[in-house]
Amino acid sequence: MESHLHLVTALLLTVAVMALVELVFDQSTPGFTRIGWLALLSGAVLIAVKALRNYFFFMMCAEQVANQAVCGRCGVYGRLRLVREKGQQCDVACKRCAFEWSIREPRDD
Ligand SMILES: [Zn+2]
Repeated sequence: MESHLHLVTALLLTVAVMALVELVFDQSTPGFTRIGWLALLSGAVLIAVKALRNYFFFMMCAEQVANQAVCGRCGVYGRLRLVREKGQQCDVACKRCAFEWSIREPRDD
């Protein structure tokens, strides 16, 4: 859910960036005001890039967890039940063959 918040933030800031670019290049705007718009544009670009980076980071974490959802014995994907949770990892068991393994959450670094 948090990843989608980053994606929506990036999309909204992209619209803001496009509007700010138009304001910065508007020849009728006074120079001092254009510098203010340019500063705002720079901030919006930085925040949009960071939000997009965070979105892709969360998506890569989700992919790493999903790749661990394959049973090591029978090869079935995603048919598992939670056995126990231990911090950033949890033990799961295959619903088909009862094989148990651990799924680890990726680290933040
Ligand atoms: Zn299995």
